[in-house]
This record gives sequence, structure tokens and C-alpha cells, in this order.
Amino acid sequence: MKLISPDTTKCVKCYACTEVCPMKVIGISASGFPEPKSYAYRLCINCGYCVDICVFDALHHKVRKQRSSDPGAAIRRYEEMKKKRKSEQEIK
Ligand code: SF4
Ligand code: SF4
Repeated sequence: MKLISPDTTKCVKCYACTEVCPMKVIGISASGFPEPKSYAYRLCINCGYCVDICVFDALHHKVRKQRSSDPGAAIRRYEEMKKKRKSEQEIK
């Protein structure tokens, strides 16, 4: 069983899960859905951010099976990353 797998009936391919992963172990498959990279099992720290950030409840993680009751940490990380990306784009 893969470390993470999306419910393709719910996933809207927003890629919030791929972006928020601190270990960068979530890639994108040929069909455009998130998929674990080959080294995902080795590097995943089971933080659960990928599950917590998905508002569509579309990502299954083998260990972190449910969104946590407080997804605040994942949301803050995602917002910080978006801000950082925006400022990098403005510098270019
Ligand atoms: S965050 Fe959810 S909806 Fe967005 S790409 Fe990941 S699984 Fe799909
Ligand atoms: S649990 Fe954390 S480290 Fe593991 S795939 Fe999800 S976001 Fe990445």
C-alpha cells in the first residue's frame, strides 16, 4: 500500500498537499493526482500536514488516517509558503 493516495473522486488537484509537505515526498502523477515519491516511506515524518491541509478530505495517509482536530499548524505553514513564494516572484 502506498504511503499516501488521493480519493480521485474528491481531489481537485490543488496541490496544497504537495506544497505543504516539509519533507517534499509528495509528487504529482502523470494523471495529475498527488502521489508519493519513491523515498516517501523513508523520509515521511508523519506530521499529518498533507492530510490536514486538504479541505476536500481527499488524501489518505497510511499512518495519519484522519485530519487532526486542529489543522492550524498545517494551515499556517501553507500560508507562510504562499507568502514566501509571492515575495520571491516579486523580486524576480
Ligand atoms: S490537497 Fe487534497 S484536493 Fe488538493 S491535491 Fe492534495 S489531495 Fe487533492
Ligand atoms: S505526513 Fe508530513 S512528511 Fe509525511 S507525506 Fe504528509 S506532509 Fe509529508
